[in-house]
Amino acid sequence: MTVDESTGFHQAKYREPILFEMGAPGRVGITLPKLPAGIVKDKDENDKSFQDLIPDNLRCTQPPELPELSAPEVVRHYTRLSQMSYGVDTNTYPLGSCTMKYTPKLCMELSSLPGITELHPNQPAETVQGALKIMYDLQNILAEIGGVRAVTLQPSAGAQGEYTGMLITRAYHEFNGGSDEVRDQVILPDTAHGTNPASAVMAGYNIVEIPSENGCVDLEALENALSERTAAFMLTNPNTLGIFEDDVLKIAEMVHDAGALLYYDGANLNAIMGWVRPGDMGYDIVHFNLHKTFSTPHGGGGPGSGPIGVSQKLEKFLPVPVVAQDEKTKNYYLDYDLPNSIGKVKGFYGNFNVLVKAYIYLRLMGGEGLRDIAEIATLNSNYMKEKLKGVYELPYKDLRKHEFVLSGSMFKDKGVRTLDIAKRLMDYGLHAPTIYFPLIVDEALMIEPTENESKAELDRYIEVLLKIAEEDPEVLHSAPHNTSVGRIDEIYAAKNLLLSWRMYKAKCSVDGKPTR
Ligand SMILES: *Cc1c(COP(=O)(O)O)cnc(C)c1O
Repeated sequence: MTVDESTGFHQAKYREPILFEMGAPGRVGITLPKLPAGIVKDKDENDKSFQDLIPDNLRCTQPPELPELSAPEVVRHYTRLSQMSYGVDTNTYPLGSCTMKYTPKLCMELSSLPGITELHPNQPAETVQGALKIMYDLQNILAEIGGVRAVTLQPSAGAQGEYTGMLITRAYHEFNGGSDEVRDQVILPDTAHGTNPASAVMAGYNIVEIPSENGCVDLEALENALSERTAAFMLTNPNTLGIFEDDVLKIAEMVHDAGALLYYDGANLNAIMGWVRPGDMGYDIVHFNLHKTFSTPHGGGGPGSGPIGVSQKLEKFLPVPVVAQDEKTKNYYLDYDLPNSIGKVKGFYGNFNVLVKAYIYLRLMGGEGLRDIAEIATLNSNYMKEKLKGVYELPYKDLRKHEFVLSGSMFKDKGVRTLDIAKRLMDYGLHAPTIYFPLIVDEALMIEPTENESKAELDRYIEVLLKIAEEDPEVLHSAPHNTSVGRIDEIYAAKNLLLSWRMYKAKCSVDGKPTR
C-alpha cells in the first residue's frame, strides 16, 4: 500500500545503517582535554592526556571493537533516527496506564547540571549534602502525597517497588506471626497489571485472582478469598478501567481484619493526587511511578524510579540506606542502622537523576499544581469518553478518572480488530492507546490523554477515531502506511531479539544482513 495522503501525516524513512556499520578507522568525535600539569610524571608535558591516568595493567592489549565516527556523523545518525520515531515531544501519546506526559524541559536542564551529574555515589556524605537534601525532601514530599509514614527511593521502577513491597510484606508477617503462621497467598483483582502477580510470585507468593463486579472489586469474592493464608491484597485505585473503587474503605477493613496488608499500585496516582491519599484510604504500602506521574521521559525502557511508602508499622523493614537528617547538626546522612531492614534492593540509592527530575517537577507544580493536574487529567479523559462512547462501546460504569477503556468488539463483524485501529491511528501521526488491556474487556482500547493535551488535540484524536470507525477494512488491515516501518510481525520480533552488536553480528553470519 502506498502513502495515504488524506491523513496529513508522513514519517521520515531512511535506510539508516547501525553505528557499527558507519565511519572509518581513525575518525574521532571528541578530543580529551589535556591533563593539568604535575599529574602524570615521566612524560613530556605536551603529550599528556587523560588516557595516561589509566594504569598499564588495566589497559586492553587490543583496542576494543568500537565504531570510529566523527561528531557530525553521530549527530546526523541520531537526528535521522529521531525523525523515524515517535515520542511525547512529537504528538499526542495517550497510552493508557503509562501516563505518557510531557517532561518540562526545565527539569531536564536542571537535572543535567554538573553539580548533579558529576557526583560519585561513593563520595563521603559531607561532600554531597545538596544531593542528600534533595533525596530527603523528596522522601518527605512523597510521604505527604501518599499519606504514608516513610519512603524509600531505591526501587528503580513500579515493578521493583511492588517486589520491594512484597518483601516487606513477608518480613512483616514473619516478624509478627511466628513460625507456624503460613501466609503464602497474595490476592489480586482480574483487572490487575501483569507486574503485580509477577512481583508477588518473585517474592515467593502464590496468586489468588478474584473476578470484578461491574468493573470494581467484588466484595463477596474478596471475602471468600481472604483467609489466614492471605499475606496481601494488591489494588490500584482508580483501577485499570479508570474507575474509582468506592468501596476502598470497606476493602481495607476486610483485608486488615484478615490480618493481611493492602498494597497500592500507584501507577494511577495522576488521577487523584492532592485530592485523596492512599494512606488515608487504608493502604499500608504505596508505590509511586516517578517516571509516570512526576515527569521523566519513558517508553524506551530508560531509567525509571518506583519509590515506595509505608505505614508506621512497616517502617522498620524498609531497605537500607535511608536518607536521614541529624537533629542537632541538621546534616544529612545515609542510615544503614536498621536491624529489621529487608536489605538492599538496588545499587547505591536508586536512579538519582530521575529522583532529581521528580523533585524539580514537584517543586515547580506545588500542592495546588498537583491538584490541578489530577483535575484536568480527569476532565480530559471524561471529555474524550463522552465523545466516543456512542461509536465505541463503553463497558461498566460511566464516570471515569484519568483514563477510560473502550471496546472495539462491535467492529469484529466487519473483520476489523482493535490492533488494526491502533495501527491505523499511526497513519494520522497519533500514538495508539494501550490495547488488549485490561484483559476483562474484549478488544480493549485504554485511553489516557493526560493533562497535557489541549482541547484542540483531544478533538483531533476523537475525530480520527470516529473516522477510522467508518474506514474501509482493507485500509485498516494493511495499516500503517505512512510510518517509517509498516506493519511488523510482532510475534517474530518478540521471539527473535537482537539486543546487542554481538547478537546482530551472529545473526548476520548465519542469515546474511537483514534487508532493512
Ligand atoms: C506501569 C504500571 C505498573 C508497573 O510500573 P513500571 O514502572 O512500568 O514497572 C504497574 N501497574 C500499573 C497499573 C501500571 O500501569
